Amino acid sequence: MRLGLLNGRAVLVRGDRAADIRWASKGRLHPNPMVLLQNWDHLREWALTLPDHAYDIDVEPTALGAPVPRPRQVFAVALNYPPHAVEAGLTPPDEPLVFTKFPSCVTGPRTTVELPAGKVDWEAELVAVIGRPAHRVPADRAWETVAGLTIGQDLSERITQLQGRPAQFSLGKSFPGFGPTGPVLVTPDEFGDPDDLEITGLLNGEVVQHDRTKSMIFPVPELIARLSAVVPLLPGDLVFTGTPAGVGNRRTPPRYLTEGDELVTRIEGIGEVRQHFTAPAS
Ligand code: ZN
Repeated sequence: MRLGLLNGRAVLVRGDRAADIRWASKGRLHPNPMVLLQNWDHLREWALTLPDHAYDIDVEPTALGAPVPRPRQVFAVALNYPPHAVEAGLTPPDEPLVFTKFPSCVTGPRTTVELPAGKVDWEAELVAVIGRPAHRVPADRAWETVAGLTIGQDLSERITQLQGRPAQFSLGKSFPGFGPTGPVLVTPDEFGDPDDLEITGLLNGEVVQHDRTKSMIFPVPELIARLSAVVPLLPGDLVFTGTPAGVGNRRTPPRYLTEGDELVTRIEGIGEVRQHFTAPAS
């Protein structure tokens, strides 16, 4: 099942067609995906009964919003791919390094981001969406708590991210528009292996990041186990799972996002998100 937000309403997506959940359920189901995520099993059971002719809306990619527009908690993980830890000059961690992207930065898949002053960088990431309350969940049961997977860009302003000792990551990763997500939330059963997906970042058409999610030091189930050992996870929470090698501040010379750039982030089986960048407001 693929859940999207089209013109502000929850839809099921199949190919380039969508079914409006509110209409197709004759008003029984809510048009807000945050409400649907509170009763995820119910939505999934209902979706199985939906006939082909219910998919009667053309999906215009630019009309898609964040599939999970108002998460209560957004977790993100640093240095979760060994080559990225190496390029950052750091040893791969023994425990996940966790920070937050404050939820106001979450946006949809096709956006224009106004660059703040500083050094804005890209981080292509797989994002896991929590589908049922999860507290102290063991890794071997963690996939049961996942509603689905989507794509995220963990946009990062490196000066703010790294200032102070110790550095505090979260503010520099939470400027307006710094959390693009989408284009849809895809349930785990749609993937041959949800732990092994190709992930690619392209800057102006050039591949700058490329890996497979099986390279993660802490895969999705392990992250959920470690996070939920401390914090109760809630339906609709997002987990940004870390980025592969190839970020801009580790290039020689460093390359940061500038006005006119186009950033595309793709994950196998989900689709792509696409960002354009405009100059900082003076
Ligand atoms: Zn990241």
